[in-house]
Amino acid sequence: MSDCLFCKIVDGRIPTSKVYEDELILAFKDIQPQRPVHILVIPKKHITSLATVDAGDAEILGRMLVKANEIAVAEGSPNGFRAIINTGEVGQQEVPHLHLHIVGGPDPVGPMLKRL
Ligand code: AMP
Ligand code: ZN
Repeated sequence: MSDCLFCKIVDGRIPTSKVYEDELILAFKDIQPQRPVHILVIPKKHITSLATVDAGDAEILGRMLVKANEIAVAEGSPNGFRAIINTGEVGQQEVPHLHLHIVGGPDPVGPMLKRL
């Protein structure tokens, strides 16, 4: 998708701080980190969100999760992290290219959601 922000990062049209890459996925530092460790893991193929995946995407989705701890440890979150995938309007997803947030650091990240 030529006008997708994260596809531009995959293509190298927008520079990023890459921390991991293989043939299926790319991981880079979030531009506005919300914790000391804040990494985004994305599929290289354009997938809009978790609401648009199908069974054919299982290997990509599995790779994103299987690599998450390795990336977190390498980036400075050795004792766990929080994995977040905001999805669609209700999930308040801002960038319409599937991405897994890895948030962590040396200290606990805090409550999961603010109470309404
Ligand atoms: P979400 O609200 O789940 O769609 O999260 C989108 C995330 O993308 C936010 O945390 C942004 O800070 C991050 N982001 C937006 N543009 C860039 C960029 N060029 N490089 C790295 N992270 C970005
Ligand atoms: Zn895209």
